[in-house]
Amino acid sequence: TVGAITLDRNGSLAAATSTSGLFMKKNGRIGDSPLSGSGFYADSHIGAATATGLGEDIMKGCLSYEIVRKMAEGKSPQEACDATVYPFCNDLKKRYGQVGEISLIALNKKGEWGVATNVEFPFCIAAKKQGPQILMANPGLHNNTK
Ligand code: ASP
Repeated sequence: TVGAITLDRNGSLAAATSTSGLFMKKNGRIGDSPLSGSGFYADSHIGAATATGLGEDIMKGCLSYEIVRKMAEGKSPQEACDATVYPFCNDLKKRYGQVGEISLIALNKKGEWGVATNVEFPFCIAAKKQGPQILMANPGLHNNTK
């Protein structure tokens, strides 16, 4: 899955995902990517998030919505990602003995961003101030398995 979040000059946030689903998926499987709240969520008054990884697990926590909800409570995107993804992964591990790959990106209305993953994933941050500007491109694989 590729997830993207944008913040335009008028302060509107948008989130999008594009996916092929999972390898060898069953016919008719939907996954998290097209589901608002699970694969993506955006609220221009607060922030937005998108997810990639094992949809069956991401859907159990409505993770994109949960991260935006935590931003609404005052958390930064990074704090919201950390406070959502790691406890959720630990909980799934406890309950089911395993957890799939889960990675999320988040952006708030101020343009602050955050990421969290239980594996490794590449991401990129770009901004246009006076002309296009890549702030961070493939800053290495974010690897955070707290
Ligand atoms: N999240 C996608 C799905 O479960 C798969 C992926 O991110 O690669 O359909």
